[in-house]
Amino acid sequence: MESGRSGPAEGLRGLPAVHRLLGHPAVRAAAAGPAAGWATAVVREVLEDERRRRWQGEEPRTADELAALAARQLQALTRPSLRPVINATGVVLHTNLGRAPLAREAVEAAAAVAAGYSTLEYDTGSGGRGSRLEHVRHLLRRLTGAEDALVVNNNAAAVFLVLAALASGREVVVSRGQLVEIGGSFRIPEILAASGARLVEVGTTNKTRLSDYEAAIGPDTALLLRVHTSNYRIIGFTASVPLSDLVALGRRHALPVVDDLGSGLLLPPAGPEAAGLASEPAVRDSVAQGADLVTFSGDKLLGGPQAGIIAGRADLIARLRRHPLMRALRCDKLVLAALEATLRLYLDPEAARRQVPVLAMLSRSPEELARAARRLATRLRRALGPRARIRLAAGESQAGGGSLPEVPWPTTLVGIEAPGLPAAALAAALRQGEPPVVARVQDQVLWFDPRTLLPGDERVLVDTVVAALDRLGPGA
Ligand SMILES: *Cc1c(COP(=O)(O)O)cnc(C)c1O
Repeated sequence: MESGRSGPAEGLRGLPAVHRLLGHPAVRAAAAGPAAGWATAVVREVLEDERRRRWQGEEPRTADELAALAARQLQALTRPSLRPVINATGVVLHTNLGRAPLAREAVEAAAAVAAGYSTLEYDTGSGGRGSRLEHVRHLLRRLTGAEDALVVNNNAAAVFLVLAALASGREVVVSRGQLVEIGGSFRIPEILAASGARLVEVGTTNKTRLSDYEAAIGPDTALLLRVHTSNYRIIGFTASVPLSDLVALGRRHALPVVDDLGSGLLLPPAGPEAAGLASEPAVRDSVAQGADLVTFSGDKLLGGPQAGIIAGRADLIARLRRHPLMRALRCDKLVLAALEATLRLYLDPEAARRQVPVLAMLSRSPEELARAARRLATRLRRALGPRARIRLAAGESQAGGGSLPEVPWPTTLVGIEAPGLPAAALAAALRQGEPPVVARVQDQVLWFDPRTLLPGDERVLVDTVVAALDRLGPGA
């Protein structure tokens, strides 16, 4: 470090000593408890970073600021990062908020196997080794109508396993209208490339005909892949090939037809509002129309834990089960327990619509949602008095998770406006709540959609709003 220049070297001299920061009240408070043993390391890191910053000529931070930084890092060690939030957005399958909330039965099943040993790979009849795939196999066969089924980590893994096991080094024919990207990282061309299969695109973005598929089939063709365009629709002058025609073509050429359904509806929600679901392909229909394999998510419209389900022909499922990737993509016991319990609810459609939260939320009638909105509005008015203006408005919820992009789900929204406080500032304050409340901002108003509020959320939401307005000060 050369001398003669002030600036950086000058700044370095003012750096507080480690013991001084450790003795700072903010750091001492944060280091009480389980993070105590980590305080020195955290303080050293903060000082190291500050030394580098000063050397680069950045504005020096005060000892108080450095102590606050270290305290925040220590608190972050002990405070849960992955924690519950209240979803007041009305987006039922909100991928960033963890997609499907689980049914109580699923939570209990996961908890029951979590804390102890289980029959994960144990056959109680023989006392020997069993298969973790057995637990959901029989339920999936009944519920989908398929010969056999298996489960992996998510639907992306399901598609990947199918392609790697059945098409590696060979060609897969896909319509140009179905080369989807879902959620920013699942892209059909990339998954295909990663699996070792070669993509053969047919047709155009808006029109693909059976003859296009037929012309693309050659000696290297391994399978025909259909992908549900979950998160968008091509409208106007369009043509796509019905699954049954694709299946007939596959049969003529002895090629498996794989149908990536994405959401994979097992059972439509109740009521006329669910009519929009007609555009969402049901797993059972796809199997019945002869798809050799169908792939779908466990945590989209099915309403279970994150998982990817593959259902279809027994001989193909057997090949997937034997593939080395199966070991890398398999799910753990908590997921399998939750999935099994969720699927069991589907044995009784009425029970499923009541008890699988995703189905229950999408089955809620506009009248019921209007009542819930009025109840929430009353509670907010009572708790906030003149500090905020509460109003109701007709609006729409969304299925989310890349499902049913064009289907409106009518709801009643509860709007909140606090004088002198921009809606975005209130939204930010609610996100900092305990628990965080996530809502929608539209037309300078913050809106809550009661559709995605779970039992017990309403009271907590009201408390969080009160606390946020208290924090924002008397002006609010
Ligand atoms: C959502 C989706 C996927 C990815 O499923 P994950 O369970 O999120 O991995 C794949 N294909 C389609 C058509 C989808 O909609």
